[in-house]
Amino acid sequence: MSGQILENSAFEREFGGPKPHYISFHTTDFCDARCGHCDIWKRPGVPSMPRRELAPILRSISRWLGPVEIQVAGGEPLLSKSTEVLLEECGRLHLPVTLTTNGWHLDEAWADKLSAWGIKHVNFSLDGFQEFHDRMRGVAGSFQRVFEAAKRLTGRGAVKPRVTCVLMRDNLEQMIEFTEFVCSDLFDGIFFRR
Ligand code: SF4
Repeated sequence: MSGQILENSAFEREFGGPKPHYISFHTTDFCDARCGHCDIWKRPGVPSMPRRELAPILRSISRWLGPVEIQVAGGEPLLSKSTEVLLEECGRLHLPVTLTTNGWHLDEAWADKLSAWGIKHVNFSLDGFQEFHDRMRGVAGSFQRVFEAAKRLTGRGAVKPRVTCVLMRDNLEQMIEFTEFVCSDLFDGIFFRR
C-alpha cells in the first residue's frame, strides 16, 4: 500500500463496495511477552513497519476516508519506533486511534506522549486475575504492570484505558467476577476475543 494508491482511490475501483470503517496497523511482530495463546513471539524475524512511509500513508487515508478509526497493535507496538511516528501523525490529523498493548512498556514518557497526541483509547491485553494472567503471559509481574500503566493514563487528556481479554476454556469461570473487577474503577470497558 502506498499513499499514491490510496489517493487515486484504486481500492474503490478495484474492489467496489463500502469504504473501510477502520484501518489496522501492526507496527511490529516483536513482543517480549510469551503468551501461550499467541505464536507471534516465536517467529524468527522481527520486522517493523518502514517509518518513512507512514506519515504519507496516513495523510492519504485521511484525505480518502476522513476521520476513520486507526487501530494500532503488534506484536507489542510500544517496542517499535514506527508506532511513535504513526501515533504522532494520527494526532496531527485528528484521526481517532485505538492502541492495543500488553502494558509492560507504557511508562511516564509514553503516557505523556499519548496524552499530547490526543490518543483516546488504549486497550490493555488482560486475560484474567493476576495468577492466571501472569501464567498466560509467561512473564511474572505482567498483571501489575497493566494496572500501573492504566493508572498512569488516568486523568491525562482524553485517554481512556480499556481491557481486551481472550476468552479461553481456562478463564471462563472467572469472567463475571473479573469483568466486574476491571470495570469497577480503572477501566472504561472490556472487549472479549476468542
Ligand atoms: S502480548 Fe500480545 S503479541 Fe505479545 S505474545 Fe502476548 S498476545 Fe502475543
